[in-house]
Amino acid sequence: MKYISDELIKINESGLYREMKVVENAQDTHIEIKGKMLLSFCSNNYLGLANNPSVVKAVKDAVEEYGWGAGASRLVSGNMLLHEALENEISRFKGKEAALVFPTGYMANIGAISSLVSNGDLVISDKLNHASIIDGCRLSGADFRVYAHCDMQKLETILRKSAKYNRKLIVTDSVFSMDGDIAPLPDIVRIAGKYEAMVMVDEAHGTGVFGEGGRGVVEHFNLNKEVDIVMGTLSKAIGSLGGYVTGDTDLINYLRNRARSFMYTTALPPAVCAASIAGIKLIRNDPSIRESLWRNVRFIKDKLKSLDFNLISSESPIIPILIGDAQKAIDRSKLLYKKGILIPAIRPPTVPTNSSRLRMTVMATHTKSDLEILLDALSDIQG
Ligand SMILES: *Cc1c(COP(=O)(O)O)cnc(C)c1O
Repeated sequence: MKYISDELIKINESGLYREMKVVENAQDTHIEIKGKMLLSFCSNNYLGLANNPSVVKAVKDAVEEYGWGAGASRLVSGNMLLHEALENEISRFKGKEAALVFPTGYMANIGAISSLVSNGDLVISDKLNHASIIDGCRLSGADFRVYAHCDMQKLETILRKSAKYNRKLIVTDSVFSMDGDIAPLPDIVRIAGKYEAMVMVDEAHGTGVFGEGGRGVVEHFNLNKEVDIVMGTLSKAIGSLGGYVTGDTDLINYLRNRARSFMYTTALPPAVCAASIAGIKLIRNDPSIRESLWRNVRFIKDKLKSLDFNLISSESPIIPILIGDAQKAIDRSKLLYKKGILIPAIRPPTVPTNSSRLRMTVMATHTKSDLEILLDALSDIQG
């Protein structure tokens, strides 16, 4: 076992060792760590729904009625009314025929991709896709090709040479989680059509944030009919837990019978589904939450221009400041922490070498004064 301690020393020396902080209160704009209140700019809880009163109430009511655990996998006896209700809610919200809920978004990606393609097929992925997509591609056994980030020429070059493959699947994040930019979905769909490839879009950071109805980047580009397979998570803007795939009825019936990360795992506790349903209802019925988010994003992005930072161009509430060196990024993050602000340093292997960054995310529930405190602290640590 000596290799383990040797590896740990190596990780440490390269400034890449990871430790976890412990949050002592509920997830909110302010979180408590070691008894100290910090202003958080690093949550995916974009709309503040993780601790929204109507979400909390839905959970309490569901626990009263259905207890906690689901006791078995969905296919055995764990499939309860709230799982079905959540899938109906998702498919209605997304404008698709059907949906399938997995315990996490990670499991939705590995389960869906590895069922859709296998040996003798081709799966094509953007270079900056989320780890769960990459793992799904690897697990599938299909030939796995990667195009440079958003490089449509490269995508087309790969497809041009793909005649020998039976099935072809293009999979992409809709919002790239470390850069905050969005995928050129209209181009992807057009190219896919030309070569008869399937398109799967991961709306983890898109759902609840983009589109007139908060349905995601697919809605933003008005491509709901063109994108065959839409995946997402219930753990980000929706503030809960779970992943889903939504599409036509055959697709969902197929995944229910093929996706191993769905079949061989216990169903989510029903109360978790109640939280997700309540979250989606808030997104559907109260666009003002999303409007507050975008107002905050515009305010921060506008003010950041006058500071001397190397900003990665982002189109979402994910705002990365490029630092480069991993240790330098950690030092900046520590300075901010001392000023009462939580923004983590994102380092390799999450991002490419020498592209370590401070990755900020803005929430709908940040107040103007929260944002001003952030800007003051950033201006103190620049240069
Ligand atoms: C967070 C994320 C996932 C995984 O979702 P979880 O529900 O947290 O497992 C998948 N894809 C993308 C793009 C993500 O950002």
